Amino acid sequence: MDTILELRNITKSFGKTEVLKDISIKIGKGEFITLLGPSGCGKTTILRIIAGLEEPDGGRVFLNGVDVTEMEPNKRDVNTVFQNYALFPHMNVEDNIAYGLRIRKTDKKEIAVRVEQALELVQLSGYNKRLPHELSGGQKQRVAIARAIVNNPKVLLLDEPLGALDLQLRRQMQTELKRLQKRLGITFVYITHDQEEAINMSDRIAVMRDGVFEQIGTPAQVYDLPKTSYVAEFVGNANLIRGRVTEIKDGVASIEVAGGQVKAAVRDKQPAPGMEVILAVRSENVKLYTYSTQTSIRCRLKEISFAGGMQKLFLQLEDGTEVVSSSFGMRLAFEPNSEVYMSFDANHGVLVDL
Ligand code: ATP
Repeated sequence: MDTILELRNITKSFGKTEVLKDISIKIGKGEFITLLGPSGCGKTTILRIIAGLEEPDGGRVFLNGVDVTEMEPNKRDVNTVFQNYALFPHMNVEDNIAYGLRIRKTDKKEIAVRVEQALELVQLSGYNKRLPHELSGGQKQRVAIARAIVNNPKVLLLDEPLGALDLQLRRQMQTELKRLQKRLGITFVYITHDQEEAINMSDRIAVMRDGVFEQIGTPAQVYDLPKTSYVAEFVGNANLIRGRVTEIKDGVASIEVAGGQVKAAVRDKQPAPGMEVILAVRSENVKLYTYSTQTSIRCRLKEISFAGGMQKLFLQLEDGTEVVSSSFGMRLAFEPNSEVYMSFDANHGVLVDL
């Protein structure tokens, strides 16, 4: 990977609150990386440190190999798009986009060309003279993006840029933004607390928890092979089941759980017989049967819900653990409040840290 941006051992506290605890990451040229985490975990603080709007207490920031930790924000080849657009209300679209170029005393003809190009890229050609209040939410966000890309920064920082839009428009803009990013080849550092958005758009996701990166990986890695129970739950609401290892054979662990026994493939974590473990299993991988097998768990079917073509079966294990099984279409084989058996393929049981 050709690194464009590197955070090395960044720490930051506000008063007594440690907001970033030794954050390190390398981000590649042209990469779309998402910082995913709940409110208050430190995402915006990271963006502000990259932009130079906040100074870290410790650690360094490198942009294209140059240490920019102490560099003024306007000298950094970085631009930011905020959730609230931050457009100048009294300026029309064209002037909003041209603002930064004018401050830099760019040639007038060149400004005109670049503004047109930026408008075309965000599919707003012809909207030059509109004022922000004459635009929809999605159009305002497009103008904010055009303004950010018009001087062709190496890195674009986006802080929940679609957060104010309704769901349908948000989905549409996700696709548009992703296409635009690939076309421009600019590195995007994108913040969201929406896991679906992160999975949809990113080349890599850094899952954050209380000021640390809990796991960094491709959407598939983070979704299919979560390292911790937190990542498993935060990305895709995996079921977490506690058990004890009874045997390991041919790379597969047999695990005793309340009401039965299951198997899980052993990957990088090497459990020993007798060890207490936590298994993460995606709801779409939980299968239900009316009979027990050698790898099944007896449980009670508490509730059935059906929405958006997806059926969800809410189960309870003997120790009270709640598990969801989901599938498309309706399965009428099961009655609420009946005893059933759940099972999953050994490859779908992932051993995670607490
Ligand atoms: P959100 O998704 O809600 O924007 P976030 O993950 O971006 O959250 P940050 O804005 O980075 O979180 O804030 C991390 C923590 O630091 C929060 O507890 C916040 O209250 C605190 N914080 C941020 N900026 C300051 C500041 N200037 N002074 C004091 N505390 C701050």
